Amino acid sequence: MNIKELDTKYICPTYKRSVAFKYGKNATLYDFEGNKYIDFTSGIGVNIFGHQDQGLIEAITTQANMLMHTSNLYYTEPQALLAKELCEKSGMKKVFFANSGAEANEGAIKAARKYSMDKYGPNRYEIITLKESFHGRTMASLTATGQDKFHEHFNPFLDGFKYAEKTISSIQSLISSKTCAIMIETIQGEGGVNPLSEEFIIELYEICNYSDILLIIDEVQTGNGRTGYLYSYMKYNILPDIVTTAKGLAGGLPMGAILFNDKTENVFNYSDHGSTFGGNPVCAAAALNVIERLDKEFLKNVLEKEKIIRQMLTMENVKVSGSGLMLGVSIEGKTNTEIQKQCLDHGLIVLTAGNKIRLLPPLTISNNELIEGLYILKEVILG
Ligand SMILES: *Cc1c(COP(=O)(O)O)cnc(C)c1O
Repeated sequence: MNIKELDTKYICPTYKRSVAFKYGKNATLYDFEGNKYIDFTSGIGVNIFGHQDQGLIEAITTQANMLMHTSNLYYTEPQALLAKELCEKSGMKKVFFANSGAEANEGAIKAARKYSMDKYGPNRYEIITLKESFHGRTMASLTATGQDKFHEHFNPFLDGFKYAEKTISSIQSLISSKTCAIMIETIQGEGGVNPLSEEFIIELYEICNYSDILLIIDEVQTGNGRTGYLYSYMKYNILPDIVTTAKGLAGGLPMGAILFNDKTENVFNYSDHGSTFGGNPVCAAAALNVIERLDKEFLKNVLEKEKIIRQMLTMENVKVSGSGLMLGVSIEGKTNTEIQKQCLDHGLIVLTAGNKIRLLPPLTISNNELIEGLYILKEVILG
């Protein structure tokens, strides 16, 4: 049996798959027939240094050759070094390591409730999230996700979540003496690459500060250089109370993290939370390589590439949203799935989000690869 037949026979069909890739180099992928594809997806914002990045491979293999796993009952060097790097570069104070975005958000939700419980007692547990948000697939993170279509099959969901429109007045109308946290993505990813405005983010930050409501920023997709900033909140000179991240954090290996500021750093104490794999030494070594390399120069380059994309997609029926290399493209008169399919046929893979085409290319994509991919996209849009 070939790969597709085996997949169909033995794997739950929760994804709609198209191609089986054999290998890749930076932002170029090859299938088993030798067909070439430009990669504008980076594994949904994960392979931020593209495919076969030698520095990342060396960090991973060096660590794997020394020590692959010890459990969190022991200290490991890569975890300690990574935590220091993350805190120093983000302004946050402490880290908890998880394995994915959903898990990071799950932990953040637990931490927010514990913070409030410790300080105010048991009746202050509500968390406000935004409509069209996406926070993950576990029960708590799915409940936090503000999209009805995710709330159909798995009742009962958790108590204590409220969903606001993306306006300050809508949020204010939901705040009560029960509110313990507000959780946002600065640019909604899965929901359709919808950026929040700077004024909205800053006002929300001030409201939270004033009422001791924790501001949780979900940087699972926007984090780790994706938007042209190490974490997207850093553009606004604010410090959230809790930051979650994952996706690109370890450049291709599964890793998530919860970052806590000086207000929340003491919430998680001995035995309050845990994970067998969280912060695994090989993943931590990969993430250390990633975070060390996301310096000013690198991030400036991400913003330069955004300019190239915006310039090339300046077309009559096209609108571009987002920041850095997290961009949404809406095309008048065509559905995003139609465009996605035609791009694939011409050797370009792209994502969709809401009713947009979503571009998340590797942050290291070469200008040649970028332009080659954009020509395909333009042709499909015009065709
Ligand atoms: C992808 C994503 C998640 C979920 O991450 P997983 O690693 O798939 O669990 C959560 N929040 C945001 C903003 C995401 O983009």
